[in-house]
Amino acid sequence: MAKIVIDNKLDANFKYEIAARPGGENIKKCFACGTCTAGCPVFHVEHKYNPRKIIRMILMGLREQVLSSKVIWLCSQCYTCSANCPQDVDFSEIMFSLRHMAVEEGYAHPDLLEKIESISTSANEFRRDCINLILAEGDVSKEQILKNVENTLKQIKVNG
Ligand code: SF4
Ligand code: SF4
Repeated sequence: MAKIVIDNKLDANFKYEIAARPGGENIKKCFACGTCTAGCPVFHVEHKYNPRKIIRMILMGLREQVLSSKVIWLCSQCYTCSANCPQDVDFSEIMFSLRHMAVEEGYAHPDLLEKIESISTSANEFRRDCINLILAEGDVSKEQILKNVENTLKQIKVNG
């Protein structure tokens, strides 16, 4: 997530628009406890992706900075944040809204939603295949992992 810069582009309506979309009802109840960030598997591999910070930016009205940010595409939609939030903020659904708004407002190409969905599905299939090998044979070799990578590449829907 880019450094927060306060300027005259604050959009006071941004949080209300998010609140009106599915899952956004409780966003204004967020008290910045950070539970969502602490449990987020994506944050643990990429600290630039910080759910608590994204919510603060929404509440502050930093519309352009949030919707143009590349990190909003990193969420794996696992719902851990939504399940753990003490204020019932459904951040996983909010991420859906942010992505759709990013496309609707021209910050991202419409194909991005489908491509990321395809990558997520393929990544889960790759994970399943490797775990099944470990369960069946007690381990998984680099050759077997490479074979699973090749199978995954055949399934994935990207250009080239
Ligand atoms: S867990 Fe809920 S209340 Fe806490 S920072 Fe995240 S969204 Fe806000
Ligand atoms: S749904 Fe997204 S933001 Fe929430 S814990 Fe999972 S990866 Fe993190």
